[in-house]
Amino acid sequence: MSLNAESTAFRSALEVIRAVEPRVADAIGAELADQRESLKLIASENYASPATLLAMGNWFSDKYAEGTVGRRFYAGCQNVDTVEALAAEHAKELFGAAHAYVQPHSGIDANLVAFWAILADRVESPALKKAQVRQVNDLTEADWFALRRELGNQRMLGMSLDAGGHLTHGFRPNISGKMFDQRSYGTDPATGLIDYDRVAEAAREFKPLILVAGYSAYPRKVNFRIMREIADSVGATFMVDMAHFAGLVAGKVFTGDFDPVPHAHIVTTTTHKSLRGPRGGMVLCGPELADQVDRGCPMVLGGPLPHVMAAKAVALAEARRPDFADYAQRIVDNAQALAEGLVRRGTKLVTGGTDNHLVLLDVSGYGLTGRQAEQALLDSGIVTNRNAVPQDPNGAWYTSGIRIGTPALTTRGLGVAEMDATAELIHTVLSQTTPGESKAKYVLDPALADKISKQATELLTGFPLYPAVDLG
Ligand code: PLP
Repeated sequence: MSLNAESTAFRSALEVIRAVEPRVADAIGAELADQRESLKLIASENYASPATLLAMGNWFSDKYAEGTVGRRFYAGCQNVDTVEALAAEHAKELFGAAHAYVQPHSGIDANLVAFWAILADRVESPALKKAQVRQVNDLTEADWFALRRELGNQRMLGMSLDAGGHLTHGFRPNISGKMFDQRSYGTDPATGLIDYDRVAEAAREFKPLILVAGYSAYPRKVNFRIMREIADSVGATFMVDMAHFAGLVAGKVFTGDFDPVPHAHIVTTTTHKSLRGPRGGMVLCGPELADQVDRGCPMVLGGPLPHVMAAKAVALAEARRPDFADYAQRIVDNAQALAEGLVRRGTKLVTGGTDNHLVLLDVSGYGLTGRQAEQALLDSGIVTNRNAVPQDPNGAWYTSGIRIGTPALTTRGLGVAEMDATAELIHTVLSQTTPGESKAKYVLDPALADKISKQATELLTGFPLYPAVDLG
C-alpha cells in the first residue's frame, strides 16, 4: 500500500534522525503518541498543521539573516527575504495592519521589541541610545536604574496578574518590571469584568507612557475602542498583546470594538496559540513605529529564525482561508459549551462563563487548590494548568484556579457534545478529589483516575490527531 505524503514525510524524517540519535527519534514518536492520547485543554497550546511543522525542518535553519528584507548584514539572504516578506504580507492582509514584523522568536520577545520601539519613539534619552548599542544583558542593575531615571521612570499601566494579565506587562520576574514603573488595573470583584471607569481613573492618576491591554487568563472580550480613548485622554501609547486571542481576531470572531488592530498603536502576538502556527511572535503597527520595530534584532532579539518565518508564512496563509474563520468560531462555541456544562454541574467560574477561547475555574468550590486540582486532572488524563483567580488567597504558585481552553481540541474536531462530556469528566475528578495535608497534596482513588483516563481517551477516538500521519 502506498503511503500518503504526510506519513512518508514524517516517517522519512524520523528514519534520518534515528540513524544519528535514535533516542531523539523515539522521543519525537512518543510525543505524538502522548499528544494523541491526552485531552489537551491547555488554553495556550494547539496543534500546528503538518505543512507548518514541515516548513520548520530544513536548511533555512542554517542561515544567518540579521537585518530586514532587502537590507541584510549577511550575504545570500534572497530566499530568506522571500519567506520573511511572505509572512509579513500574509500577516498584514490577515489583520489589516500597515506593518508586520515577523522576526520575534516568541511572545515575550515581541513584547520587548514593542516596548523598546515605544521608548525610542517617545523619549529623548542619551542613555537609551547607549543601551541600543550595548548588549542588553550586559546592563547591570545600576545601569538599569540610571536608564530608568534618564527615561523619566517611564510608566506602564497593564492588567494585574491575578486578573489575567501577563508577566511581560511590567511584572518583576520579567525584564519589563525593571524597565518600567508599573501599575495594574484589576477587575471588578463582584463581576470579574474589567471596569473601564476604574482603568480611566488609574490612567488619569498614574499618567502612563504605555497602556497595555491583553491577557493570559481573562475569559471575556476587551473593548479596545474604549481602551484607546483612555490612552488618548492621558497621552499614552496604546499597546495590545493579543497572544492568546490572535486566532479569534484572524478568524473575524472579534471584530469592531473587539478587534485590537484598528484601535491600538501597536499590537503584539504569539503565533502558536489560537493562531495555530509555529512557536514564535510578531509585532503589528502603523508606519510611525515601523522603523523602530524593525530594529528588534539586534536590540533585543538574536538573529532571525528563517525556518520559523517560513512556517509563519505557511500558517498565516492557512489562517487566511475561509475555513479558519469557521475554526475560530468553533473554538468559542466549544468554550461556551464547556463553560455551560461546568456551570450546570455546579462549578464556579470566574465571570460565570466565557466569550473567548478560555474558561477559568475557581476550584475553591471543590475545597481544592489549583495545584491539587491540576495534578488530580492530570492523573485522570486531562491536561490543564493551574492559574491564579482574582484576589487569589493561595497566591501564584498554589493558586485557586484551573485555566482550560479549547483551541487544541477544536483543531482535533471535537464539538459541543464532546465539550459537555469533557465537563462531566472534569467535574467528576474534582468532586471526587479531597485535599491532603498540604496545598500540593490530594487524595484521588487511582481506580477512578484510571477510569476517567480511559473515558478521556475514548472521547478522543473519533477525533484522531494528525489523522493522515501514520508513523508505522
Ligand atoms: N503574552 C501573553 C499574553 C501570553 O499569554 C504569553 C504566553 O503565555 C506571552 C506573551 C509569551 O509568549 P511566549 O511564551 O511565546 O514568549
